[in-house]
Amino acid sequence: MADKSLVGEMLQVQLAIELIELGARLQVLETETELSRGRLIKLYKEVKGMSPPKGMLPFSADWFITWLPNVHSSLFYNIYQRLDQELGCERMSAFVKAYRLYLEQVELDGAEPTLGLTRAWTLVRFFESDLLQLTRCQSCHGDYVAHAHSPRQGYVCGICQPPSRAGKTRRSKAADAQALEAASEETQAPARRVAN
Ligand SMILES: [Zn+2]
Repeated sequence: MADKSLVGEMLQVQLAIELIELGARLQVLETETELSRGRLIKLYKEVKGMSPPKGMLPFSADWFITWLPNVHSSLFYNIYQRLDQELGCERMSAFVKAYRLYLEQVELDGAEPTLGLTRAWTLVRFFESDLLQLTRCQSCHGDYVAHAHSPRQGYVCGICQPPSRAGKTRRSKAADAQALEAASEETQAPARRVAN
């Protein structure tokens, strides 16, 4: 094996360890690294002290549209998009950074991270396969995760127009809403500058 691929392999192991620590399922590791399944399982056991959970990922695009997951998914995806598209980070490096920033933001606001790492990865994949799009809320002008090809006209986000059942844990949700607003202000500021 050439030296070059040895370094490449080391970087892949590093990425795999980082993803495992953040809660990645085996399927994420198998898709995003070129390491063999056997090595990934061994790595997983070393990092987590247990075998990876078995089974396929059951996620559907609908989950990202439901109320609280939508707030969290939109927060995460706005950060990811800024790192990946505007700041030119390499895809997986943008992903890991965005996920860490999402966790930090949620923690600052005293909320629970609704979006697990594997779900966040699924979200990115759904965007890449054109199953989801970002739609701008006409009220707060934040960008929110929505089904692809859903109407953009007159869209109002779940924070501006929460469903009545969302009042149950109003405090933590208000914190989530604040986090998203802060993040969307941050991500939109450069766009506004360009527009002016
Ligand atoms: Zn809104």
